[in-house]
Amino acid sequence: MDFELSPELQALRARVRRFTEEELFPHELTVEADGPLPDAVAARLRRRAVEEGFWPMNVPKALGGLGSSVLEQVIAQEEAGRATNDMWGYVGGPYNALLACNPEQKKRYLDPAIRNEVPAGAAYAITEPGGGSDTSNLRTRAVKSPGGWVIDGEKWFVTSYGRAPVTICHAMTGPEEATLFLVDVGHPGMRVSRNPHFMTRTEDDHPEVVFERCEVPDAQVLGEVGKADAVTKEWFREERLHIAARCLGAAQRLIEEAKAWVSERESFGKKLHEHQAIGFMLADCATELYAARLMTYKTAWEEDSGRFDGKELHAKASMCKLYASEMANRVADRVVQMFGGRGYCKDYAAERHFRHVRVDRIWEGTSEIMRTIILNGVLKRDLRRLVY
Ligand SMILES: Cc1cc2nc3c(=O)[nH]c(=O)nc-3n(C[C@H](O)[C@H](O)[C@H](O)COP(=O)(O)OP(=O)(O)OC[C@H]3O[C@@H](n4cnc5c(N)ncnc54)[C@H](O)[C@@H]3O)c2cc1C
Repeated sequence: MDFELSPELQALRARVRRFTEEELFPHELTVEADGPLPDAVAARLRRRAVEEGFWPMNVPKALGGLGSSVLEQVIAQEEAGRATNDMWGYVGGPYNALLACNPEQKKRYLDPAIRNEVPAGAAYAITEPGGGSDTSNLRTRAVKSPGGWVIDGEKWFVTSYGRAPVTICHAMTGPEEATLFLVDVGHPGMRVSRNPHFMTRTEDDHPEVVFERCEVPDAQVLGEVGKADAVTKEWFREERLHIAARCLGAAQRLIEEAKAWVSERESFGKKLHEHQAIGFMLADCATELYAARLMTYKTAWEEDSGRFDGKELHAKASMCKLYASEMANRVADRVVQMFGGRGYCKDYAAERHFRHVRVDRIWEGTSEIMRTIILNGVLKRDLRRLVY
């Protein structure tokens, strides 16, 4: 058993770390204050990510992407996740749902995202006011019309809406089946009803979007009619592992900054770490990060190995997201405490990560839903394959 990362993976890690520190860190406070970066700055970052080989990692070579392994993607997401304010979005690739594009759709939607010409490849609208975790409560409907479909409903928290040229709308097309539709930004019948403020400031908004007799032609169906779940499941599995990876990066930065602080700051004639109450917090942070990193890397390796089936990997990605996101929140809470008043100040990554990692316990499936998926896996699958 050899857990050492290959020289290539170590080199990738070093390159993404440099990019994150040199190109992303300097913009954190700008995004915190003003939201989206100026177009020219954002376009330059996107270009640099392509030049450096950090985009599009999740797109197969046959479709014009880098075809990176899942472990390579995890390592890149981990390093980018050190940045606050969702600046990690400059590393990786578009939502993998766009891989379901047919050749005509690929030219319009996937190819510009592969070339990284657009601020975001697509928005993905699933959640509704009446249904988030419980997708059986989703009410947005698409009804067949001659040559197309008419969509009616309301979607909430539509990340990247407006910045992305297209929204992927998940709509019911039968009592038990849903279909994905590609709806161009500005298309008649789709509008923002409200743009709420959230706990963090990023380049993206998460508006509420209404579909009112929104007519789209058959050509805008993404994947197969009635098969939304197949595409969405793949998206969840990738996103959940990437969230876990980014949480590792956030925790790593927090621990590095806390270590420097408690080694330098003195109180009552001692370095802070010499007060056991503070030193032990750092010890707990390091231990939990180590555990989260091992499980996330191993799951990525298992994805690449091809030796595990989709259902096993689905449960494992859920374990990684659950544990790593809860870990990052505990680490952020302790590190804010270690920094004292400074930990409450936005100038410090501790304060910003404290708010930013909070959503990782909610989006792409809450911690409670992750536990439901894991429990299902424990009950139905071979336990030895799940936890060894
Ligand atoms: C910043 C942000 C960006 C987002 N971006 C997107 C996006 O781009 N596209 C999109 O479609 N959605 C997006 N979401 C929505 C997100 O995925 C949902 O908020 C999430 O899935 C939870 O759904 P909900 O908010 O309806 O909460 P609910 O489902 O109402 O859950 C409320 C609480 O009840 C718990 N709960 C629910 N069911 C159970 C159960 N069976 N057992 C135990 N506990 C349960 C939940 O865990 C949670 O704690 C985003 C959310 C946020 C905050």
